Amino acid sequence: MDGLKKTIIRGGLETLYFSAAHHVMRPFVGGVGVILTLHHVRPPRPDRFQPNRLLEVTPGFLDDVVRSLRRSRADLVSLDEMHRRLTNGKARRRFVCVTIDDGYRDTLQWAYPILKKYEVPFAVYIPTSFPDRLGELWWLALEAVVARNKRIQLLVDGKERSFDCASVEDKRHLFEELYGWVRSFKTEDELRRVVRDLCGRYQVDVTAFCEELCMSWDELTRLAADPLVTIGAHTVNHVMLAKVPEKVARSEMEMSRSVIEAALGTRPQHLSYPVGDPTSAGPREFRIAAELGFKTGVTTRPGVIFPEHRKHLMALPRISLNGEHQQLRYARVLISGAATAVWNGFRRVNAA
Ligand SMILES: [Zn+2]
Repeated sequence: MDGLKKTIIRGGLETLYFSAAHHVMRPFVGGVGVILTLHHVRPPRPDRFQPNRLLEVTPGFLDDVVRSLRRSRADLVSLDEMHRRLTNGKARRRFVCVTIDDGYRDTLQWAYPILKKYEVPFAVYIPTSFPDRLGELWWLALEAVVARNKRIQLLVDGKERSFDCASVEDKRHLFEELYGWVRSFKTEDELRRVVRDLCGRYQVDVTAFCEELCMSWDELTRLAADPLVTIGAHTVNHVMLAKVPEKVARSEMEMSRSVIEAALGTRPQHLSYPVGDPTSAGPREFRIAAELGFKTGVTTRPGVIFPEHRKHLMALPRISLNGEHQQLRYARVLISGAATAVWNGFRRVNAA
């Protein structure tokens, strides 16, 4: 995320917090609850080049947020309980549902002890190729290519081009360019081809990140044994479903559920769309998820849950605890629904 965008977001959160507008707005914008998104939870690292840092928060920050939620009037609930409340319940209190994507080992090592301490139910969404050690965490591979080299050459539109990335500043800039470029591709295949090509040229083992960072099936089995934990599906190959043919999208969702059921003995009822923004999951994916019988599908579209989402259970928004904004007061404004109401122009449902 570029500096200006960060400043604007922070400015907005500060304004909402210090004006106390989020308290005033809450009855109108808070909805019935909120689903929180986490990725990595781990101690901060000293490296200056951390382009994927928005995907990680520290254990201390998570502890602060959870403690604050436990003291608040919100109910911390599982996905099943959230689904029950949305479909037939009339709960008096607002709910908060904690979800963690991708199944990193730090979920077990850092997030789990904190959530366990406060007895918080939570869901972990697993792309099955990660514990199978075949997955491509391509955004980390891209980071590694840029981090480990001073100069990068690659084919852009059939032409060989060269980029300097010796300084941290150049690395940040180049990563942002490369990331934006590969995300703009129409197909997932194209993105994977470019990343594999870069990894081949610069000796980055794209599948090594699974072993290094993600839980094994044994570790998942241990985690899943706790009744606090719900294991959800997150496809097989962590693909942006809207960028693959319908048959592939369907089998990615269906297969991941079967593989998890075979490995852990429970059939996932809940789905998280990889990446999860409108370019990765749209009406076609919501329809397929419903046809496959999932109870809920979560996106990364920002927002809180309103009663209207009862009719859009496959297109639920979430609130991400972003590593770039690790302040309890920002988290409070986000969880209140005030910030996303402003960002979404007060529109409650976005399932298009
Ligand atoms: Zn993911």
